[in-house]
Amino acid sequence: MFESASILCVGNELTEGTTLDRHGRYLSRTLGELGIPVRKIALIPDERDLFLSEVKALMQQSGLVIVTGGLGPTSDDLTRDVVAAALGAELEYREELWQELQVRFGGRQIAEANRRQAFIPAGSVVLKNIVGTAPGFMTDWGGGCVVALPGPPRELSAMVDQSLLPLLRQRLGIRVEAVTRATAFLIPESELEEALAAAAFDQAVWGTRVEEYRIAFALRGGTEQDRLGMLARVVQFFDGFRIRSGEVDPVALVSDRLRDLGRVLVTAESCTGGLVAKLITDLPRSSEVLWGGVVSYCDTAKSGILRVSPATLGEHGAVSRQTVEAMARGALAISDGQASVAVAVSGIAGPGGGTVEKPVGTVWIAVCGDTRAALTRAMHFYGSREQVRRRSAVAALLLIEDYLT
Ligand code: AMP
Ligand code: MG
Repeated sequence: MFESASILCVGNELTEGTTLDRHGRYLSRTLGELGIPVRKIALIPDERDLFLSEVKALMQQSGLVIVTGGLGPTSDDLTRDVVAAALGAELEYREELWQELQVRFGGRQIAEANRRQAFIPAGSVVLKNIVGTAPGFMTDWGGGCVVALPGPPRELSAMVDQSLLPLLRQRLGIRVEAVTRATAFLIPESELEEALAAAAFDQAVWGTRVEEYRIAFALRGGTEQDRLGMLARVVQFFDGFRIRSGEVDPVALVSDRLRDLGRVLVTAESCTGGLVAKLITDLPRSSEVLWGGVVSYCDTAKSGILRVSPATLGEHGAVSRQTVEAMARGALAISDGQASVAVAVSGIAGPGGGTVEKPVGTVWIAVCGDTRAALTRAMHFYGSREQVRRRSAVAALLLIEDYLT
């Protein structure tokens, strides 16, 4: 049905060099797995004439044209208009989209500009956005099809996974194949590849997809037992902590788990500077699962705000099991019963500050609750300051999940 696809990524940030395109790589790998080769990936700015001529040209070249970005509510978001014009279709107001937007805004005033997001080309199928506000759409024309996806990577990959892929599989007549999916965190791609090769059974086929903070991988071939056996060997190789079954996002994983259990988190962060709380609050409705957090960077903040005793800090140092456990207990105490789980992170993000005993990249994380004993872990990361901080935040999320499981 689709002999080939083209991808058109729209946004000034892409051609001005401020944002590196991630969608071309992700979409072409995903479509490749379905057997649809991508013949062109183009980046263009938010310019109507260029956009329109490019979409029209791509529609002549490929059966499947995927446009990314430009679905927001502002005047530089041109995708709805331009795709409708390229198809020779009217824009159609869809009341149900407007209703859904209002639900997303949870009773807050919605700007009239957002109403633009309730219009899509007539005859389109809506692709739901479960992470953000902008719905995507898929429109047939002649023998082909144009798909519009939102720019933010998290929104795009969720929409592809949950809406676009099932639709494409259905159209291509691909049966849901026997596959076991899992996600690796904090593991370099090459190390994961080696572990997969070592754990493989005869005729195992696997594929990996690098995403923000993680690598999703899929095992195919053999029986379900073969695949689960292989996954168990990989899990064992990485001591369980860094592999989770299913395709999962660490932030959504923790938020959902907290929500399901009716628990509320408080954070106490040193080297991550609030990144754990930031990631959790990236998701809507985070106030249901996050009470708040403390950034306690200096020792005096750890003792002053979180009541970590100066003796603990003096004896074991700020980056130690004892200190993170005390930070977590201190955070729980200041929430005054409103939070029931606390996470604390303290580490040496570098580039300076390392010692032989505690080199740069040493990070302690503790999770404690109002019931069970604390769960504490030391991590040793390589990389830049930014990478160590990011990895620390991911490890903190994984440890929260472990604690809750
Ligand atoms: P938009 O849907 O055009 O409003 O895009 C919103 C945001 O998504 C942009 O500000 C970028 O941060 C991000 N984004 C858009 N396109 C891409 C892309 N091709 N690769 C990575 N990020 C993107
Ligand atoms: Mg844009």
